[in-house]
Amino acid sequence: MEKSSREDKEHGAAIEVRDLHKSFGALEVLSGIDFSVAYGEVVCVIGPSGSGKSTLLRCVNLLEEPTSGTVWVAGDEVTDPDVDIDRVRRGIGMVFQSFNLFPHLTALENLTLPQRRVLGRDKAEAARIGRDRLARVGLTDKEAVYPAKLSGGQQQRVAIARALAMDPQLMLFDEPTSALDPELVGDVLAVMRSLADEGMTMLVVTHEMSFAREVADRVVFMDGGVIVEEGPPEQVIDSPTHARTRSFLARVL
Ligand code: ADP
Ligand code: MG
Repeated sequence: MEKSSREDKEHGAAIEVRDLHKSFGALEVLSGIDFSVAYGEVVCVIGPSGSGKSTLLRCVNLLEEPTSGTVWVAGDEVTDPDVDIDRVRRGIGMVFQSFNLFPHLTALENLTLPQRRVLGRDKAEAARIGRDRLARVGLTDKEAVYPAKLSGGQQQRVAIARALAMDPQLMLFDEPTSALDPELVGDVLAVMRSLADEGMTMLVVTHEMSFAREVADRVVFMDGGVIVEEGPPEQVIDSPTHARTRSFLARVL
């Protein structure tokens, strides 16, 4: 029996990944990934460089096409060839290591443009929502400022506000603080922590172990294209069972 999409949304997970494989030519980067993220859950993905973390995130919103396996986002199967991927992507906020703001637009204009283009909001509504989201990331006083005049941390907070302005059902973060000077990391993590406190569903690739320990409901450790172990942060970070997890943590903690 076919379930309605509303029913899927109410009863399914926010993200469900089953037996996901991804190869680039002969190189298999994801070798059978199974995991899910429930609504309201914060899951942090940790692991060495090259372990496939970014590729996993990119398969969730189909920036990369999986070689095989199934991915559902908010009840929609994104690996179904007939899926309306633009509609699915509208529900996913994505924040990258590089902020990707439009340099010729002010902070507020960076938030209003996608709302108008993608969601068809009128100018006044887009500005109202944009100002609300800038306030949420603590940048009310920067709405008329161009990205070049903002610090890296402020630019990343604008990028988060831009994603929030689209009213996403879930947020994907790929090392959002890795490009920042150390003294700017805290403000970005504080914004992410407040989002988590408000119940936002979040999948976060990060090397910030204290953030993962304090904010994540679950930590997933990846190495060599597989999930080596996952569980609550106090288990995975503080008493990992696998040698690979222990040696990774010994390098980053
Ligand atoms: P991580 O985010 O954990 O550092 P990635 O998912 O970025 O890892 O990369 C995993 C592996 O896949 C790396 O060996 C990387 O070089 C390779 N890779 C990623 N994207 C591509 C691509 N578009 N083409 C070829 N190889 C890629
Ligand atoms: Mg990466």
